[in-house]
Amino acid sequence: MSIDDAQKTEQHLLDAALSIQREQANKPGATFMHCQECGIDIPKQRRDAVKNCSTCVDCQSLIEIQQQHYRH
Ligand SMILES: [Zn+2]
Repeated sequence: MSIDDAQKTEQHLLDAALSIQREQANKPGATFMHCQECGIDIPKQRRDAVKNCSTCVDCQSLIEIQQQHYRH
């Protein structure tokens, strides 16, 4: 295998990894790494505990308060 081929293979693997990341990011209901409200990192513990969580604890509780408010 020439150096050129090795580089192509590496690039191919990189492309494949990136497209998987893109697919996961676009998937509805995907777990987000960052809060969709304020943009801070969502702790791994929370991501594991809350399925499809897209916000941090603070934003989630604000959203829940707002939802309760609208319900009444
Ligand atoms: Zn947040």
